[in-house]
Amino acid sequence: MLAIERLEKIKAILQTEKNVKISQLSERLNVSEMTIHRDLKPLIDDNYVIKTFGGVSLATSTPINDTINEQCIYCHRPVHGKMTYKLILVNKQTEFACCAHCGLLRQMQLGDEVVQAISYDFLRQTTISVPRAFFVMDTSLDLGCCQPQVLSFEWKEHADKFVQGFGGEVYTFKEILAILQEKMSGNDHSCHP
Ligand SMILES: [Zn+2]
Ligand SMILES: [Zn+2]
Repeated sequence: MLAIERLEKIKAILQTEKNVKISQLSERLNVSEMTIHRDLKPLIDDNYVIKTFGGVSLATSTPINDTINEQCIYCHRPVHGKMTYKLILVNKQTEFACCAHCGLLRQMQLGDEVVQAISYDFLRQTTISVPRAFFVMDTSLDLGCCQPQVLSFEWKEHADKFVQGFGGEVYTFKEILAILQEKMSGNDHSCHP
């Protein structure tokens, strides 16, 4: 099978199944996992799919209109497109949070029930898989959502540059969870400013 045919097959599989493991694609298309990785590269670069643990998911860009009537699952503010954080649960239910602050806190509450978490790159507005994202806290740019404010970035380089201009610290997913938990356990803040 030609690479281009495989690509069409992979797209068709993703359209119907939404999430798929690399190992499954390799088996079904009868090529090595390395070949699958190579096939997926352009799809990932185009934000057609996002990487998940051991596989890929169809990137679902959530149009602003779809979320306009949603309330943040954590603080009940209205959800607005740009900073939306989306959680997909084991039972296929979807939850929206107004920003990464609430999304991360909700994700901590749910633990293993979350199969996928998606947020938007603050600069490019592309969908990003949260565990691979970089987060900026304590920046001087106040976007008026929940405090302490958390912004998400796809690339560390972009987060670093942002911090150079607006101040703050860059954290990985694991780090931000720890820091957020620590900050939320104090009494010097509230979700509603
Ligand atoms: Zn919220
Ligand atoms: Zn918020």
